[in-house]
Order: sequence, then C-alpha cells, then structure tokens
Amino acid sequence: MTNLYHEDIYKFEKPVKSYWESTIDTDNNYKTLDTNFNANIVVIGGGYTGLSCALSLVKKHNEDVVLLEAGHIGWGSSGRNAGFCCIPPAKMSVKKMFKKYGRTETKKFFQNTIEGSNFTKSIIKEYNIDCDLTGDSNFEVAPHPSYFENIKEEAEKYKKEFGIETKVFTREEFNEIGHGGNEQFGAMSYKPGFAINPLKFLIGLAKTANQAGVKIFQKSKVTKIEKVNGKYKIISNNQIINTNKIVMATNGFYKDDIFPKLNNMILPVISNIIITRPLTDDEIQSHNFITNNPVLNIRNLLFYYRLLKDKRFLFGARGDLIGSEESSLEKSKQMEKQMKNVFPNWSDVNIDFHWRGLVAVTTKFSPSIGKLDDDEIYYSFGYQANGVNTAPWAGNELTKLIVSNSKDLNISKIYKGLPSKFPFPKLRLFYLRVALAYYKFKDKY
Ligand SMILES: Cc1cc2nc3c(=O)[nH]c(=O)nc-3n(C[C@H](O)[C@H](O)[C@H](O)COP(=O)(O)OP(=O)(O)OC[C@H]3O[C@@H](n4cnc5c(N)ncnc54)[C@H](O)[C@@H]3O)c2cc1C
Repeated sequence: MTNLYHEDIYKFEKPVKSYWESTIDTDNNYKTLDTNFNANIVVIGGGYTGLSCALSLVKKHNEDVVLLEAGHIGWGSSGRNAGFCCIPPAKMSVKKMFKKYGRTETKKFFQNTIEGSNFTKSIIKEYNIDCDLTGDSNFEVAPHPSYFENIKEEAEKYKKEFGIETKVFTREEFNEIGHGGNEQFGAMSYKPGFAINPLKFLIGLAKTANQAGVKIFQKSKVTKIEKVNGKYKIISNNQIINTNKIVMATNGFYKDDIFPKLNNMILPVISNIIITRPLTDDEIQSHNFITNNPVLNIRNLLFYYRLLKDKRFLFGARGDLIGSEESSLEKSKQMEKQMKNVFPNWSDVNIDFHWRGLVAVTTKFSPSIGKLDDDEIYYSFGYQANGVNTAPWAGNELTKLIVSNSKDLNISKIYKGLPSKFPFPKLRLFYLRVALAYYKFKDKY
C-alpha cells in the first residue's frame, strides 16, 4: 500500500467541516456493519457513483445490494465538492481526443457527457431532491487578453463539432451579465451547466436508495477482499459479507489496498475550497457580480467560483501536495490571497470555511468504466474532477454491465477500460509536481 499523502486526509472517522455540512441536519440513521451478511452485489463507496449504481440495481433490476461506506454517508468527495455540473470529464484537448480516439468516438464522448448532465438533473427532479439547484449554463472566463482567442475557438468548436449551445462575451459584455474583477477579459457560456449543494444531493440520493431497498452501512471500511471458489468474502468491521459481485466506487479515496488489479492507477489530487462570510449587496455590486452560474477561470492552473444563495462566495482551486491539516490551512490562506487579487474590493472579507478532498486523475485523462477480466469486479472512477456530471450517470451505466451477460457498454470508448498503471507509482506526486511547475510557467503572461 502506498501512502501518497499525510494520514490526516484519510481520517474516514472524522467529519469534514465543510460549509455544506452546516447546511444540513448532520444526524443520520444509517447503521454500521456489525453482523455477517450474504448479498448478491456489494458496492464499496457511498459517493455518487456507488449510490447511483446501487439505486439503479435495486430499482431497475430488483437486485439484492449492500453498500459499504468507510466514513459517514456524505464523507467523500461527493459530499464536499463545489457542486459545479461541468463538461467534459477529461483533462485532454478536443484536438488530442480527435487524434487519439477519432472524431466519431469524441463526438459520442461529448454526447455522453451531455447525457451525464441531463441525468444528474433528471434524478434530482425524479426523486424530488431539494439541493439548491441554480444556474442555467456554465461560464469560462479568460484571465488575460491572450486567453480570449482560446475561448472563442473553444466556443466555436463546441458548437460546430458537438452541437453545444455556446455564446461568447467580450469583457464589457460579460461585465454586464457576469462579473468584473482583475481577471476577466471576456468569457464564453455553454449549456447544459448548473450548480447544486453537493451534500444535499448526496443525502437525497442515499435516502432514495435506502428507501428503494439498498442496505446501506456507514463507518464500515472494507479492509480486505478474498476470492474463494469464484465468490468473494468482504471483510469490514471484523464482519464478513459473502457476495457474488463487487462494485469498486471509491474513486480518489482509494488507497491501493483492496483491489490489487486496480492499484497504482489513480493519482489522487487534492482540491481545496474556501467560502467567505455572506457578502453585502454593496460588496457584490462593487465587482458587478451578477451571475449565479458556476464560473471557471481557464488558467492552466484553473480556479473556479460562484455566488451561493446566502451570498457567500465559494472559491476553489487545486490543493497542496502534503495532505496534512496544517498544509490545508496554509493552502486556504494562499487561495484567499489569490481570490482577493482577483476581486480586490473584497480584501476585508473573512473566510468562514475551508476544506479539501481528493479528485482522481489517471494516465488516461478520462474516466474508466468497466469490469475486470476473470473477476466479478466492476469499476467506475477517474472523472478528472467532473463527478457531478459523470459519477451518477456512470454508476447507472455500470449496472447494465453488472446485470447482463454483455461485456460491453454502448458508450464512447473514451470512457471504457482501465488506464495504464503509473510507472514507478511511488513517484506519482513527483509527476504532479513537475506538471504543476509546467502549468505555472505556462500561466505566466
Ligand atoms: C474539493 C473538491 C471540489 C470538487 N468540485 C467538483 C465540482 O465542482 N464539480 C464536479 O463535477 N466535481 C467536483 N469534484 C470531484 C467530485 O466530487 C468527484 O468526482 C465525485 O464526487 C466522485 O464521486 P464518487 O462517488 O466516485 O467518489 P466519492 O464521492 O469520493 O466516494 C467514494 C467513497 O468511497 C469511500 N471509500 C474509500 N475507500 C473505502 C473502503 N475501503 N471501504 C468503504 N468505503 C471506502 C470513501 O469514504 C468515499 O466516501 C470535486 C472534488 C473535491 C474534492
């Protein structure tokens, strides 16, 4: 087992003091596993992937499903992200995708990612989940005049190649409908795009899954999986669950410990969020901050932000490379400085919340959905920080593999199959450090 980060970040038993936790009633009634069980399918991980998969298995296919979550329900990244529903889940340019996968698969990939956005929205509606859905599109903002050309090209490509509705705004136009500040030199919008309270969505999904019949156990970390005569023994809290099929839905929090064939494939990258106190109307107006849509500043080391319904400002960025509580605090101070450089009229505004979590990056730079050869182990991970869009949809897609004898899914091949393992996996953070230094250099203008 490789421990890439400080243990602080893997304290499953410790609730994360996110802003979202302050918006809900934190008590829930999910049990902790304290007895042996038999189940046809066990889902490991209680984020959007695991819950959506478990819910579909029970509701659409009438399966017998147990879900095990190491923390409390809502502990993982699904309960603490920024709530942006963006496209696409890839850290690769369209040009590279065309070259690597061809036009047809790339078009299908974009079609699937739009399905992902619509899927997330549709289950919010279908299950009546009150999760403060806001916005009708996403904005990408040029941080410097030299980025505006890229924005225009991207808007054109999205429209022409993928039929996505886009609109370009000059700096002056965006000032009228979006915001001002020091890093706004024009923008584009695309649809679909929106934002949610991620934890309310997660809790609503868990409640729906539980009511449909998924047996959910929290504070039940899986510590070992043994294969005996083609079936599996899952060990958690010193109890054993015998099962026929397993779903790996642990994404960025996977510690290279229980699925040897899936080890060393994920580079968990820390992502941090800070949230201000509620801004006054004057403060909001001082930067013409009008929009409730999610906004992405498209620096190579990108950051993102949005105004919340109680007028607090959320600002997110890549995190540190250590993972301790101390390094997280230090990072949040740097982010506060960065946010105030971009929006200088808020220099006196306090930060009320800061926290972080892990996103999963892989050598494929796109998600991985599938089944292990010679095993009844199914996986879905590597959303490249786009899980609100992708994880619920991917969890639902995965069920089609689990319940049928088919070995294939009718989705773009960009999503399918495993990434290659990282060479010298202990050096993963070193690779990240080098990539970050390169991006920082590219962002100098
Ligand atoms: C700070 C931050 C901001 C982000 N912002 C956005 C955003 O705005 N938009 C967006 O689309 N995406 C965002 N993301 C990414 C997004 O949150 C993830 O892609 C998504 O939540 C992944 O869902 P998941 O269910 O696969 O994983 P998770 O939600 O992380 O769930 C995995 C679960 O597995 C559990 N687990 C791990 N090991 C075990 C084990 N051995 N036994 C039992 N359980 C285990 C973990 O406790 C965890 O709860 C952000 C992530 C972070 C950290």
